[in-house]
Amino acid sequence: MHFNDIQRVPSDPILGLIEAYATDANPNKFDLGVGVYKDAMGLTPILRAVKLAEQRLVDKQTTKTYIGGHGQTSFGTLISELVLGKDSPLLAAKRVGATQTPGGTGALRLCADFIADCLPGRGIWLSDPTWPIHESIFAAAGLKVSHYPYVGSDNRLNVEAMLATLNQIPHGDVVLLHACCHNPTGFDLSQDDWRQVLDIVRSRDLLPLIDFAYQGFGDGLEQDAWSVRLFADALPELLITSSCSKNFGLYRERTGALIVCTDSAEKLLDVRSQLSATARNLWSNPPDHGAAIVAEILGDPELKTLWMDEVEEMRSRIAQLRAGLVEALTPLGLGERFAHIGVQRGMFSYTGLNDDQVAKLRYEHSVYLVSAGRANIAGIDASRLSLLAQAIADVCHD
Ligand code: PMP
Repeated sequence: MHFNDIQRVPSDPILGLIEAYATDANPNKFDLGVGVYKDAMGLTPILRAVKLAEQRLVDKQTTKTYIGGHGQTSFGTLISELVLGKDSPLLAAKRVGATQTPGGTGALRLCADFIADCLPGRGIWLSDPTWPIHESIFAAAGLKVSHYPYVGSDNRLNVEAMLATLNQIPHGDVVLLHACCHNPTGFDLSQDDWRQVLDIVRSRDLLPLIDFAYQGFGDGLEQDAWSVRLFADALPELLITSSCSKNFGLYRERTGALIVCTDSAEKLLDVRSQLSATARNLWSNPPDHGAAIVAEILGDPELKTLWMDEVEEMRSRIAQLRAGLVEALTPLGLGERFAHIGVQRGMFSYTGLNDDQVAKLRYEHSVYLVSAGRANIAGIDASRLSLLAQAIADVCHD
């Protein structure tokens, strides 16, 4: 048989966690595992702005024909404006191009193949730790994957170690940075840290790739773009992967973009010709529906305002849960130990709980976290914060 030698690979541990959570009969269970936003009801609903945009699209759309390798032009322009700012001089100079991709994952894979094909010999540097799919995507494209320190075993952001390693990266290599809401740790660089990283990137002639999967989930839509805009304004060339999965709640519609900034409008055409050729081999044309929704929302002032309010609603719920959890842990003598949860940004938190404590939380309290103690803060039910704090205290005081 042709398939005889094919071995089974272990399934994604997060998928196993979803299953275990679903079958857990404890009414007081907590799902802090899978990385999707949840509202106060524990649901991941369709945003109101998205529903309205979809209804308009049903009425308006006249064709389902292919949309071309780079996707819909209006989506590309609007997402570039959202990321870089409407007044970015790069947009006016036509030094920016967005290629519509199946989610941020698609943007990363396109980027990985682009680097492998067009910038041969360049290695890529990822934070340690990073989103595990970063590791596999770049390796699958044949790139040499290396790491710079980010958060150590003491569960602290180690900027000095990060900068020291960046200072030794071979000239020309690609360095992947999380714009905000670092996955999995939740620890973000300060503005001063970003400036130091920029200095090194410039002096060592590195090519930054900024992964921007959580715009609006940290400090706000504009605030979260600060680092991206700092780099875009200071450097002649930049790669950005943007995802609409979280901030538009479009997870399954697979909506994202690879945004490329070049030093001239002419060079942009060369780069984009390569990107559409590469995309042709990956998925030919990108999926349309999610990007059409995003374009409808961002292109309509009323829908855009509604959407911005909804993003703010999600952002502030996460911020309140962070503060609320630290507050609930304080009377149990754990406020200081878990103060970092209030400092971290975005959905994820490296709690600092070890594997034994994570297992105890799961088996004794039905609190589901991912290994390495990563919690999805958005999965917390605010009305049961003290119960969660009690469970954490129980495994910590053991
Ligand atoms: N980058 C990071 C850091 C992420 O956490 C995610 C989503 N988990 C993505 C990219 C891509 O997400 P998607 O493909 O769903 O847009």
